[in-house]
Amino acid sequence: MNSFIEIRNLNKTYRLDEVNFPVLKNLNLTLPQKKLITLMGPSGSGKSTLLNILSAIETSDSGEVYVDGDNLTGKTEKQLTLYRREKIGIVFQFFHLLSYLSALENTALPLYLNGHSKKEALHKAEEALKTVGLEHRMKFTPKELSGGEKQRVAVARAIVHKPKLILADEPTGNLDSTASDQIIKLFRNCVNDLGITVFMVTHNPEIGTIGDINLHILDGQIRNK
Ligand code: ADP
Ligand code: MG
Repeated sequence: MNSFIEIRNLNKTYRLDEVNFPVLKNLNLTLPQKKLITLMGPSGSGKSTLLNILSAIETSDSGEVYVDGDNLTGKTEKQLTLYRREKIGIVFQFFHLLSYLSALENTALPLYLNGHSKKEALHKAEEALKTVGLEHRMKFTPKELSGGEKQRVAVARAIVHKPKLILADEPTGNLDSTASDQIIKLFRNCVNDLGITVFMVTHNPEIGTIGDINLHILDGQIRNK
């Protein structure tokens, strides 16, 4: 397996009241590592579904999904938990920071889950916050931060355990253009300086062209523009 992400004949159908809503239809996708990848598509076209399958948050009905040689479709729940904790970092549109924790503690959280000591976790969290330019906000809680700063904390939390892949679902969807530019720059640095692959869903046509690879999803399949 030379490719970093390899998806073969992926199918996902939601069923509501015995009515089928096919979302992903024999989707195929091959992607190299250490690239910034954007994914655009109409609302409801399955962007989040695809991202959630890559995050191992959702399962597919059929098909194969490989990330960095790991076959997600063949893993136990325990192995998938390890995959989520070690290999990927996730960034959401609405930040999902814990409101009662400081920026530093929010960033350290994945490392606590991975069994690091508190001292080591806080040290690494500090480094990650420096990477996103927020060393002066470490003690602040989310309500004391701007939207852009909250998303930078979320990026710090996503990179603190040095994942190979960042999955971001409309990460700039709730930000003004200045904050949005900062997040895109951070993702570019993640790729170029840290060697992370960033897979980002966006609604914004401008952002949908700035990747090394810019994908579209339509009718349940990927179109490479
Ligand atoms: P996007 O992120 O591109 O807007 P989604 O992947 O969230 O689209 O959703 C794709 C389609 O699947 C939508 O029509 C949505 O309503 C439907 N869908 C998503 N999640 C569920 C679910 N848990 N149950 C039923 N339908 C769902
Ligand atoms: Mg979505």
